[in-house]
Amino acid sequence: MSTAQHGLAADIETVRTEALDRLETLATAANATEWESNYLGPRGRVTLLLRGLGQLPKEERPIAGRAAQQLRNELTDAFGPVNERLALEVIAARLVADAVDISLPGRKPTIGAAHPISIVTAELVDIFALLGFQAVFGPEVETGRYNFDLLNIPAEHPARDVWDTIHVETQGEEIVLRTHTSPMQARTMERLQPPVRVIVPGRAFRFEAQDASHEWQFTQLEGLAVDRNITMADLKGTLQEVARQLFGPERRIRFRCDFFPFVEPGVDFAVDCAICDGKGCRVCKHTGWLEMGGAGMVHPNVLRGVGYDPDEVSGFAFGLGIDRIAMMKYGVDDVRAFANNDIRFLRDFAEAVG
Ligand SMILES: [Zn+2]
Repeated sequence: MSTAQHGLAADIETVRTEALDRLETLATAANATEWESNYLGPRGRVTLLLRGLGQLPKEERPIAGRAAQQLRNELTDAFGPVNERLALEVIAARLVADAVDISLPGRKPTIGAAHPISIVTAELVDIFALLGFQAVFGPEVETGRYNFDLLNIPAEHPARDVWDTIHVETQGEEIVLRTHTSPMQARTMERLQPPVRVIVPGRAFRFEAQDASHEWQFTQLEGLAVDRNITMADLKGTLQEVARQLFGPERRIRFRCDFFPFVEPGVDFAVDCAICDGKGCRVCKHTGWLEMGGAGMVHPNVLRGVGYDPDEVSGFAFGLGIDRIAMMKYGVDDVRAFANNDIRFLRDFAEAVG
C-alpha cells in the first residue's frame, strides 16, 4: 500500500466519522441541504476524494476507488432517512402554521338589509292589498302619450316643459323618464275592464334642483280605482284608512282643493302630524299637517282616452310620495340620503330597524 493510498484511506475515515457525526446533529431542512452539499455535492468532500483517485498509482485505484465509492454509498444511505425526516418536519410545521383553527368564533356573514324605501313600499303594498288593491309595475322610460296625453296633459301644458321633464329621445316620438307613476293609469285601464283597483309603486324622475326635500329621482305610489258609483267619499275613506294603518288609529286626514290635469276635482291631502298630534312641531313645520300627495276623481277625458264611458263608471286616483312617508316614519331629514348610496346611512338604518 503506497503512502498516497494510506493518506486516502485516512481521509476516507476522517470524512466518514465527521460526516456521520454531523449528520446526527442536523436539526432543519436547511442543515440537511448544507450537509448534502458539503459531502455529496459536486464540490463536496466525497466527490473530491473520488476525483483525487486519479493521483494514485494505477494499480491502487480499484481498491481505493471501491473504498471511496463505499463511503459515498454509506453516506447517501445514512442521509436519506435523516433528510426525509427533516423534510416531513417542514411540511408538518407548515400544516400547523396554515391550520384553520376551528375553535375560533366564525366570521359573521355580511347580510344585506332592505332599503328604507323598499320597507315602506312593501308596507304600503300590504296595506292596499287589504283594501283590495293589486300592485302593478310599469316602465320607467315612457312615451309622451302615456306620461302626458292620456292623462289629459296636452302638449301646451306647463308640465310638459322641458325644464321639468327628462327627455330620453327628442327626435320622433317623445320618450321621457316618467315624471310620475301615473302612466300606469292608462296602461292598466287599457288592459282591464272595471272594476279596477290597482296601486303602482315605483320611481319617477324630474329635472329639478336638489335639496333636502327634493330629488331628481323619487318614489311614488300611484293608486287608481274605477267602478260604478265611485265617489269622493271612497277616496277619502281609502286614504283615511291608509293613514291610520301607517301612522296610527288616531290620525285624521285633510283634503284641500288642488289642480292636477288628470283629476276633477283635485285635492292635495295631508295627515295630521303624529309626532305633535297636530299641535305643530319642527317636522310638520308648525302647521300640524304633513303633506302626503295629490288625489282626485279621475277626469272624464282620462276615462274616455282608454275607452271607458264616464257616464257609466267613475274613479279616483291618488299619488303618495313614498320618500316623504319614509322620512316621516324614520325621522330622516334629507331625502337625498335615500339615493346617494352612503353605506353608513344604510348600515345604521339596517341596524336601527333590525
Ligand atoms: Zn308636528
